[in-house]
Amino acid sequence: MAAIHLSNPVTDLYGVGPSAEEKLAKLDIYTIYDLIAFIPWRYDDWSNVGSIGSFDMSDRFDDNTGYDLSFRGTICTTPSVNITSKKRPLTFFVNDGTGRIKLTFFNSPYLSGKFSLGDECFIHGQVTIFKGQMQMVNPYIEKAEKITDDALVRPVYHLTAGLTSNNISKWVATAIKLCGDELLSCIPKSIAEQKGFVSPKEAYMMAHFPASLEDARRAREQLAYEELILLGIGMKLYSSGHGIKEVAEQVIPSGPNAISRDLAVKWNQIKSNLGFALTADQTAAFRDVQTDLMSTTPMNRLIQGDVGSGKTMVAALSMMITALMGKQAVLLAPTSVLATQHYKTISKLMQGSGMEPVLLLGKTKASEKTEIKDKIRSGEARVIIGTHALLTDDISFKDLALVIADEQHRFGVKQREKLLFKDEGPDGTIKSVHNLVMTATPIPRTLAMVIYGDMATSVIREKPKGRQEITTWFVNSKKSKAIEEMMSVKLAAGEQVYIVCAKIDKDETEAGSDYLLGEPVGGDDSVTSVFDMKKQIDSMSNLSQYKSAVLYGSMKEKDKLETMERFIAGDIKILISTTVIEVGVDNPNANVMIIMDADRFGLSTLHQLRGRIGRGDKKSYCLLVSESRSELALSRMKMMCESSDGFELAEKDLDLRGPGDFYGTRQHGIPTLRAANLYTDMKIATEATEAVNRIIEAGGEEAERLNESIKKMFELRFARKMEQL
Ligand code: ADP
Ligand code: MG
Repeated sequence: MAAIHLSNPVTDLYGVGPSAEEKLAKLDIYTIYDLIAFIPWRYDDWSNVGSIGSFDMSDRFDDNTGYDLSFRGTICTTPSVNITSKKRPLTFFVNDGTGRIKLTFFNSPYLSGKFSLGDECFIHGQVTIFKGQMQMVNPYIEKAEKITDDALVRPVYHLTAGLTSNNISKWVATAIKLCGDELLSCIPKSIAEQKGFVSPKEAYMMAHFPASLEDARRAREQLAYEELILLGIGMKLYSSGHGIKEVAEQVIPSGPNAISRDLAVKWNQIKSNLGFALTADQTAAFRDVQTDLMSTTPMNRLIQGDVGSGKTMVAALSMMITALMGKQAVLLAPTSVLATQHYKTISKLMQGSGMEPVLLLGKTKASEKTEIKDKIRSGEARVIIGTHALLTDDISFKDLALVIADEQHRFGVKQREKLLFKDEGPDGTIKSVHNLVMTATPIPRTLAMVIYGDMATSVIREKPKGRQEITTWFVNSKKSKAIEEMMSVKLAAGEQVYIVCAKIDKDETEAGSDYLLGEPVGGDDSVTSVFDMKKQIDSMSNLSQYKSAVLYGSMKEKDKLETMERFIAGDIKILISTTVIEVGVDNPNANVMIIMDADRFGLSTLHQLRGRIGRGDKKSYCLLVSESRSELALSRMKMMCESSDGFELAEKDLDLRGPGDFYGTRQHGIPTLRAANLYTDMKIATEATEAVNRIIEAGGEEAERLNESIKKMFELRFARKMEQL
């Protein structure tokens, strides 16, 4: 038999055939290493062996709740199958010297003949009371001699139909035996010694076959270190182009007289078009970008800033300066509404500079598209704004130097890479572009480090001056009169209102296409839909006089844009929408937002939604309407009412329920983690990655070892998955 390695397909293991292969693929397991890394998500602890007699049933008469019990006993009646019953139950009694209990096995023909009177057995299951008698239905049973003490902590795996934890255990045991010695440790020796870590092979053995829960916990901790180092450091080593140097154009020349008088005049024109002074954070972020653009090392920067903090302005100025220097800059927006809005902002900014931006959307007319593409090719267009439409193959640039992505997590890593195309230069270097990403997801620094690895970050925390705090209230629908009242007061004053609903219409048929934007699917009649709300508004005497309109993701692009434009122009007064408005829409005259069934939305979505208001100088109100009494929903609402700082909310949300909500890992393109938890293990992430970075920077033997192992293991574990993202 040929040697088997960690990278071999799982099917190379004895017993894993095509049908198992398919099921394993569903669990994201393709290689032998994937299988080994698939550690149990929890353990059943059967080591706490009890006795039947100690089981007090006096107050549990006809109680259907089950009670866990493990015990050893002797079969004291002959096992018999009731052939008159359809489910063919096999029953017998077991006695452990303190009492006896009836065991019933349904649909378990393989058991009959396996056990007979007098057999010593180990049993684990749930005790229920049936007709005043203790019984166990389909418990785990094994002959006592087969049960060793260290098999009493049972791994439980996340499974897919057709696989059992036993299957996995068996395959994993073979896999570790065959390839365990190939597993390399990625943990610095200093940490390993201090923590008393074992070899990776032993750690995986302990995780899959622990002798105690304490062993399992220790193994998981070690593997979490391993995993977070792989992710945090490996990503960096991996994306740094396998040692090939990447270069980008130096956009801003250095030196005292590098900027001509003519350019300086144009630049001043653009700055005066702004109409306001940048905040200190904006200035600092823009300075970071400028510094990056003075280098031939490709910029790889993330601008993090809460909604409304003014990221777009920083992006726009970065594009302007690139264009002034005669090079091209692209701004990618996730929706056409947003792209159009950016286009308008930027057009205004560019007035009098002698340049004009172009806008390319999917729905742009074919003839116009051709014209725009020609301009992009010839270099006449230097400020280019658009959606996914810019990511097609037939677009070529004259001199692309800067790519900016807004709300990057809505673009796949792969998609963006199309624009960050890498041409091989004559000297073996790779020609790349400067890359700037803007995100409104406020990510605590520790998490950002893991998720974005090698990206430099600029944070905009401070909001532009003159902003009024948004007042947020949590109300139930009994307050609908008061809600109506406040709407009509605001509308009478000429202001506008958003109403956000959790679904589109009753049958939900159209929700599908919006799902990616986080619009909840799934019918529930108690949830107010966009169309229900429209009807309600139209029938209210004091509100029906104001023009309202609906907006949802699956509407025709053209209609969506038109509705948005009419709302921004003030023609539509009440916009009733789904979460499509979450991304970037800017109407400073809309100062009220009512979020129906607010418990249906995650904290991050609520915060993003609320960011649509409070953009002007008037007082704004956000009303969270919900009937929910769930503790989670209530604490979320409370947080929303108490804080408007996205960073603070993000951190609180982490405390409340882990990173799943704010930081859907898939959303950020993070491969599945098996041992580490991005919430509870953040401290490990910081400690471990910082230690490794220090060692690698210092160089030497240990640095080399870590470099090698991390590269190798990352390749095995994540590289293929990164390609798929
Ligand atoms: P973000 O992209 O971070 O959500 P925007 O760049 O869209 O924020 O800015 C939100 C609003 O604030 C816009 O109307 C913008 O014109 C305005 N704005 C941006 N920066 C400033 C500033 N320094 N002073 C005043 N208003 C600003
Ligand atoms: Mg924005």
